[in-house]
Amino acid sequence: KICLCWMRRDLRLEDNAALYHALKSGFPVVPVFIFDTNILDDLEDKRDRRITFIYTTLENMQAQLIKKGSGLDVFYGTPQQAFDHYLTRYDVQAVFANQDYEPYAIARDAAISKHLQEKNIALHFYKDQVIFEQSEVMKDNGEPYTVFTPYSRKWKSLLTNFALKNYPCDKYASSFFQQAPPALPSYQQLGFIETDKHFPGSKPADAIIQHYDKTRDYPALDQGTSRLGVHLRFGTISIRTLARKALQLNETYLNELIWREFYQMILWHFPKVVTESFKAQYDNISWRNNTAEFEKWCKGETGYPIVDAGMRQLNTTGFMHNRVRMITASFLTKHLLIDWRWGEAYFGVKLLDYDLAANNGGWQWAAGSGCDAAPYFRIFNPYLQTTRFDKELKYIRHWVPELDTLQYPPPIVIHEAARKRALAVYEAGIKP
Ligand code: FAD
Repeated sequence: KICLCWMRRDLRLEDNAALYHALKSGFPVVPVFIFDTNILDDLEDKRDRRITFIYTTLENMQAQLIKKGSGLDVFYGTPQQAFDHYLTRYDVQAVFANQDYEPYAIARDAAISKHLQEKNIALHFYKDQVIFEQSEVMKDNGEPYTVFTPYSRKWKSLLTNFALKNYPCDKYASSFFQQAPPALPSYQQLGFIETDKHFPGSKPADAIIQHYDKTRDYPALDQGTSRLGVHLRFGTISIRTLARKALQLNETYLNELIWREFYQMILWHFPKVVTESFKAQYDNISWRNNTAEFEKWCKGETGYPIVDAGMRQLNTTGFMHNRVRMITASFLTKHLLIDWRWGEAYFGVKLLDYDLAANNGGWQWAAGSGCDAAPYFRIFNPYLQTTRFDKELKYIRHWVPELDTLQYPPPIVIHEAARKRALAVYEAGIKP
């Protein structure tokens, strides 16, 4: 008999809660990963860099496991098909996995749990991708928080050394099932094309975290923020390791990790945010939704250099600096009056660190429709933002080299007129 460790967004062999418990269970452990066709079939871009990121990570894990005489068993298909295959191939005692809190994952896990139960196989879940999950940080009256600052205060008051403790998987490395692993499916089998592998490193640099509060707002700085988003997304870094560092080195950085959990908590308690505004009256706004303007925004051709730089950085690298995410999102929803859901979906396709909870939270924040959002009348002035955060135009010139030439388009809207229009349309929509 063996047990399976079903890896999802926890793609690492160290400090991994489910893997640790599987290795300690007394049964040899086969780690498995499913390239889920329910997810892959929805990805239109066959050069999606996230597939290359996952694939490269799996290859690294495979190499580490082979050194231990074991291997990762990777399946391509639906989770149901995958488990039917695994149950034929192995004599399975139990399955271990880490919790995943997104709506699709919840439905998937419930279905697989039921399927396994019918065969008398237990599926055990563990908390791994957050320090505090779901309902662990609640108001004294038992309700979920909808404002960040009191949430973060409570979060910090609940923090113990135990919550940050490392799971020493290495101690039990001899418990991996010994076998020559089946080969990974090829990119061709997956229906994707391998992209470049210019991904940020997964080791948090102390210096970046230490100076984070002073550097984080300047998009021209390569080392101004940690670039760990993609690693937190796929679990190639442990949140406990990172939170311990943040606690030692920089409170502002720790607060960002708490924002991440805040939005995950919001998504859990208010799943309607996936399609609806958190503040219902914001769904009465008469968006202009001009498709030609949306296209220009996507391509980085709005004639607003800071907006265009951000969109081009996103299109080229799969990353956009947080300050610029706020500016581009505010510009789309306020200056162009395009529904935040359009922008959210575009970021969802392009961002390497795409995360449903954080992306939805960020967009609803910028649109003013979210919990604890920017007030609707706060309309970022892209020129002022540039003076404050990219004064020497270093970031802008990098992404918009034709800035001073006739090739660069004139502004798609005039700032002051667009600001007034946004105020009028927002007020007409949200006022009772
Ligand atoms: P750092 O600044 O080094 O921060 C460290 C980590 O803290 C991040 O990797 C992230 O996990 C977390 N974090 C930081 N800021 C936030 C925040 N505001 N909300 C939630 N978590 C945060 N973040 C995503 O991870 N995925 C998204 O899809 C996403 N979409 C966004 C969309 C918009 C419109 C906005 C305004 C923000 C979005 N963010 C998203 C939040 C933030 O911009 C990114 O987390 C950050 O820019 C990633 O870069 P970094 O790893 O260098 O972050």
